Amino acid sequence: MPEGTVLSPHFTIHGVADGVYAAIATDAGFGLCNSAIVDLGDSAAVFDSMLTPQAGADLRRAAERLTGHRVAYLINSHYHGDHVRGNVSFPSVRIVSTRKVRELIEERAVRAIESDRAEVPAELERLRNGTWALRPRERVVFEGWFEGILATPRGTLVPAPDMFVDDRLVLRGPKRELEVLSYGGGHSPSDVIAYLADERIAFLGDLLSVGFHPGVGDGDAASFLEILDKVLALRPEKALPGHGPLGGVGDIERIQRYLRELRSLARDARRSGVSRDEFGRTPVPPEFATWDFSDFFGDNLRRVYDQTPAGS
Ligand SMILES: [Zn+2]
Repeated sequence: MPEGTVLSPHFTIHGVADGVYAAIATDAGFGLCNSAIVDLGDSAAVFDSMLTPQAGADLRRAAERLTGHRVAYLINSHYHGDHVRGNVSFPSVRIVSTRKVRELIEERAVRAIESDRAEVPAELERLRNGTWALRPRERVVFEGWFEGILATPRGTLVPAPDMFVDDRLVLRGPKRELEVLSYGGGHSPSDVIAYLADERIAFLGDLLSVGFHPGVGDGDAASFLEILDKVLALRPEKALPGHGPLGGVGDIERIQRYLRELRSLARDARRSGVSRDEFGRTPVPPEFATWDFSDFFGDNLRRVYDQTPAGS
């Protein structure tokens, strides 16, 4: 089925290889994160379920129409809401991730929907009354994000993973095999990627973003860098980010430069006795100045400052 025949306000479908599709989140939709659909030959696998049950339902339908198979596996790259709140739209599907991700989803996911719902009206007001300095694209993305939270039905559950990967698990079908890998936590306390070795396509969740600042606020910059070294050692040619268009090795290396820059700035600040607050106001380095979600830079700076020993 040609990808153009699948229509959703939440994502657009892009063929990446025969039977492999990227669902790229639209700026204004309720998807927020990217997903992937992989035809295994007798079933389909989906990578990440997006921000809302609505986007998740469209994604499941898209996977069924594009592959002609039922979805057997849903992989959760990490526990953040924009990657797992569509899980509820995948009934009777095995949800694959680490035990740590299961734990984090059970502890936090449902409560986070409620706390987001409580905070969003004030954020939307700030966004609409012009007191929040945002770029035009950021404004559209944030608005879709917040409206997606408000459109999430009350009482929405987030089914947790029930099939676990320690470091490597292979999902096999007659057409291809999909490796599910975890190298620990970098962007979040536990991150999972998927890899098609024959096609050299990596699905990286928020370990990669293209045109957006990555988030380190919930993870660890040093491990993040090491994980990306391991991803590069897989020799991928194409890499699907959690946010932004399909990328490649150059984009992974750019995130590594960003993380190294954060660490080097934090070491300098620690050495010269700069306070955490002052450090958090450091301007974005020129190489990354065009990236959206620039508000994340301050959070990333403070996180890396905390991870840098004083006097190092
Ligand atoms: Zn995330």
